[in-house]
Amino acid sequence: MYSGPTSGTCRRPPASRQPNEAACPCVVSVSDADKLAVQVPDSAVREAVIGMYRSEPKIYARAVSGWFAGWRWTLVWATQLLFYGLAWVPWNDRQAVLFDLGSRRFYIFDLVLYPQDFIYLTGLLIVSAYALFLFTAVAGRLWCGYACPQTVYTEIFMWVERHTEGDRMQRMKLDTGPWSVNKILRKGGKHAIWLTIGLWTGFTFVGYFTPIRELWAAAFTAQFGPWESFWTLFYGFATYGNAGWLREQVCKYMCPYARFQGAMFDKDTLIIGYDSVRGEPRGKHRAQGRKTDLVSAKLGHCIDCGLCVQVCPTGIDIRKGLQYECIGCAACIDVCNGVMDKMQYPRGLIRYDTENGIDKHLPVAQRLARVVRPRVLVYTAVLVLIVGGLGLSLAMRSPFRVDVERDRGALARVVDDGWVENVYRLQLMNATERTQRYRIRVEGLTESVLEPAADISVGAAQTRWVPLAVRVPPQRAEAAGAGAHRIEFVIERVAVTTADSSPRSLREKSTFLVPR
Ligand code: SF4
Ligand code: SF4
Repeated sequence: MYSGPTSGTCRRPPASRQPNEAACPCVVSVSDADKLAVQVPDSAVREAVIGMYRSEPKIYARAVSGWFAGWRWTLVWATQLLFYGLAWVPWNDRQAVLFDLGSRRFYIFDLVLYPQDFIYLTGLLIVSAYALFLFTAVAGRLWCGYACPQTVYTEIFMWVERHTEGDRMQRMKLDTGPWSVNKILRKGGKHAIWLTIGLWTGFTFVGYFTPIRELWAAAFTAQFGPWESFWTLFYGFATYGNAGWLREQVCKYMCPYARFQGAMFDKDTLIIGYDSVRGEPRGKHRAQGRKTDLVSAKLGHCIDCGLCVQVCPTGIDIRKGLQYECIGCAACIDVCNGVMDKMQYPRGLIRYDTENGIDKHLPVAQRLARVVRPRVLVYTAVLVLIVGGLGLSLAMRSPFRVDVERDRGALARVVDDGWVENVYRLQLMNATERTQRYRIRVEGLTESVLEPAADISVGAAQTRWVPLAVRVPPQRAEAAGAGAHRIEFVIERVAVTTADSSPRSLREKSTFLVPR
């Protein structure tokens, strides 16, 4: 039976607790312990310390400005203009980028992809993954800090929060203060704007799968389909929840990349690090900058102002060393550089550097030379090979596709004058944006004829099923003998311009059956 204390008394030193930590997770009540059914022998300890679930203290990140914050905002604008804007760009009387699941066609500017072209999307994902491996090995978590949707939307949502509730201290005061009209208006306004951004994001996301102009018109006539409604709301609330509420929890506990990116790191990967040799021992400096005698005061350059912790969106202290929670946003660099400027110390107490660079104080030339190392060369070689192969395959991609099916109802039959006939169905897929004409002939059995023999026309980005009969005269069928004989359908594009260098013909194998 559990024999711990009946009421929880936290044994952790008060200094180790967060100021706004509501309840200590190491305290276990009798009812909790009963539920857990902890079996502790009488001779064992009198108290059980079980920290299974710990509520995370809310992080009030302080606003920061500086060179890296400027870059992050540049990336926020670039990615969001691309995401929100691209869905509205017209191209050849349609949307430039549209993943039309209903008609099973993906349009990416001039490219029209069919389900059979799924390999290219797979290739694109592999290229993205390898590019991420390469950039992570060289430059650490640049993606996380500047371009990841979670970072980008959190940045936008935090901007809204600062403009509705104020900066760090004002938000803390508002949260701990009683409810008032001011608090309701500020919090209500913030959530209203967050929800609007979330829903607009959900709408834009769905607009890449359903033509966005039709979707926009449907929004005003309440004719949203069930799937469009579901995905708009789902993606909208996911954005609202992830960027508004979960924030750093997504990076710390949900993101798989955060878990495995450590495997791509080594001591020559660019990280954000604190120069402890220069900064320690930390402590308050009585006079400003060079007026303080740091040697006699036994102090480093860190004035222990705590600003680098206050601006950190994941609430960590970079001075404790590299931690997996660090998303590489460089907010601590910006704020610490500001402190160093005020103290008249050189910038870069917290900086982008490699572990070797910080530990060994390597010159810049040596740090750059270490970029070229085996794992980087392997990632680069694989990436170049995949990109090259994908590009070549796309350049040689046929602008039309053909599938041949035998008519299962009548495998082979003898028709007028003893001619042997097999019936097929050809599926012609025109992957261009113009109507195309195709000429079909059959090879493999001499004297065979095709009916109908006329050219087949297929509309822009359309698919057409064509019934065809292959006939063989009686003496030829007799000479070939009973059984299956290999034939090939040859499909040629007609009236192709000389400027068009894409393949003009395709061959599809099939069989011709001669009955006994
Ligand atoms: S911001 Fe710079 S000076 Fe201030 S505590 Fe952090 S490392 Fe030290
Ligand atoms: S430690 Fe610095 S770079 Fe890392 S998440 Fe915190 S503020 Fe961003």
